[in-house]
This record gives sequence, C-alpha cells and structure tokens, in this order.
Amino acid sequence: MDRNKSFDGNRPILYLIATPIGNLKEMSPRALEIISEMDIIAAEDTRNAFSLLANYGIKKELFSLREHNEMEASQHLLEKIKSGKKVAYMSDAGYPGISDPGYILVKEMIKNDINVSTISGSCAFINALVASGLDTKHFFFYGFLPAKENEAKEEILSLKDKKETLIFYEAPHRINKTLNLLRDGLGNRNICLARELTKLNEEYIRGELDELIKIDEATIKGEIVLIVEGNKEENAIDDDKIATRIAYFVKLGLSQKDAINVVSEEFNVNKNYIKKLVF
Ligand code: SAM
Repeated sequence: MDRNKSFDGNRPILYLIATPIGNLKEMSPRALEIISEMDIIAAEDTRNAFSLLANYGIKKELFSLREHNEMEASQHLLEKIKSGKKVAYMSDAGYPGISDPGYILVKEMIKNDINVSTISGSCAFINALVASGLDTKHFFFYGFLPAKENEAKEEILSLKDKKETLIFYEAPHRINKTLNLLRDGLGNRNICLARELTKLNEEYIRGELDELIKIDEATIKGEIVLIVEGNKEENAIDDDKIATRIAYFVKLGLSQKDAINVVSEEFNVNKNYIKKLVF
C-alpha cells in the first residue's frame, strides 16, 4: 500500500493537465495557474502545446512525450523531477491517458514515489455520454476499435452481452463502416453520435443504429464519439428463467398463486407480470 497526500510537499509531484477538446475557453484558471508555475511542460505534440499555451500568453520549455517514446520520455521526466524541476504533462486534447499517452508515464512516476495529480478539464466521452440520453449509471468506455475489420468485428462481438452503455471513439472517414459493424454485431440499438463537441458545429444525432447507418457519411465530419445502448435483453432471459421456476414449483405441488408469490420474491418481479407471462 502507498498512501500519500498530493499537496503536503513530502514528495515531488507530476501534474496531468486536461486540455480543451475544442473550445479554448474550457481551460480552467487552475490549469493555467499550474502551467505557469511549471519549469517543463511535457506534451504529446509540442507544436500543439506551443499554440495552445500561446493562446493564453504562456511560453514554457516543452518536451515531447508521445505513444512511441513514452517509456524513454517518462524516464527523462523522472530524472528532471528528481532534480527538482516542476513538470506537467498534457496530451493533445482532453485527458492524458484516455485514448492518449499517459498511462506508462503515470505508472513510472508511482513506481518511483512521485505523486501524480490531475487538473480537471473536458473529456470527449464524458460530454457525449451525459448528453446522450442513454443510461449513464453504468457504462463501458472502449475507445477506438481496431482498424482491421476482422479484429473490430471480434471486439464488437465480445461487447454484445454487456448491459452497460458502450462508448467508442471514431474518426469521420470510418464512421459508416463502424456503424455498420456495430449494427451487424450488436443488433439494432439506440445510439447517440456526438460530434465536434464544444465547437461551433457541435451536433448530436440520436436514434437507432438502423437509422444512423443510412446517413450520408459526408455529412458526419469532424471528431466523433459514439454512445451505444447496452444489451437490454435481460427481460427475455429472465422471462425464460421465471417460466422455468414457476413450472418447477407447480410440479412440486404449489398452487399457481403460491408459485407466483415465491417466484415474484425470488426475482423481485411484479406478480401480475408473472401471471401474464406464464398463465
Ligand atoms: N484524450 C481525449 C479525451 O479525453 O477525450 C481523447 C483523445 S483521442 C486521441 C481523440 C478522439 O476523441 C477523437 O477521434 C474523437 O473520437 C474524440 N474527440 C476528441 N475531441 C472531440 C470532440 N470535440 N468532439 C467529439 N469527439 C471528440
């Protein structure tokens, strides 16, 4: 176990800074304050970071940490932090580590007793999910499906039985193909396609997969999040189980009424529902 307060000064700290997913006003005053205090800003793309910071009149030493050099870059930053430099990391948009580099960096910091703290901001899938109109209580974030069709199909099939709302990131040039793969693999379901979030052309398309596969791909430009309804077939499965249990109790000699009472309690299902279902 490792228990540590982020800000008590006992250990150095690496900040993870969430950056805007489109609208530059979504950089919090706290994020800007922390950035201003840093010696080094590590970034997924130093050119993007340069222009982002220039927007707020900030100029800092930048260091590149991308997917392809994440381990070496993490070691370099570790040395910098150990030597007393203040370091923060930001990916191109949204939260580091969410379909973006950051995971290896964080693991290396924790392994070396460096505190890690996140500075909040926007995250594309959270924006999309909460406005989707689909169940937000339990959800499963998948991110990008594999580019190869066979692999994507397999992944989609492995998600078919999940009851949680499913969340995907997708690029516009593949959207039609992905919608069709989802339709084929999951069956027709409610879906919300959210694109260009926080930007001028933000758009939500809510409907069924059967409807969305017919949309002209040319009209779905920009950055996209797909929120897909989870598997709602629970009732069908439960209906079978309920019927089997009723038959079992009736065979044991219980009256229909008693069997319904027992099974209603067992499955926490309304008695009238069972009556209609079985008798
Ligand atoms: N780290 C980011 C986050 O926290 O959301 C995600 C980065 S991932 C490389 C980029 C993908 O996120 C895009 O292809 C798109 O699926 C989604 N995305 C990012 N910005 C978005 C936006 N403004 N509107 C819709 N989707 C967005």
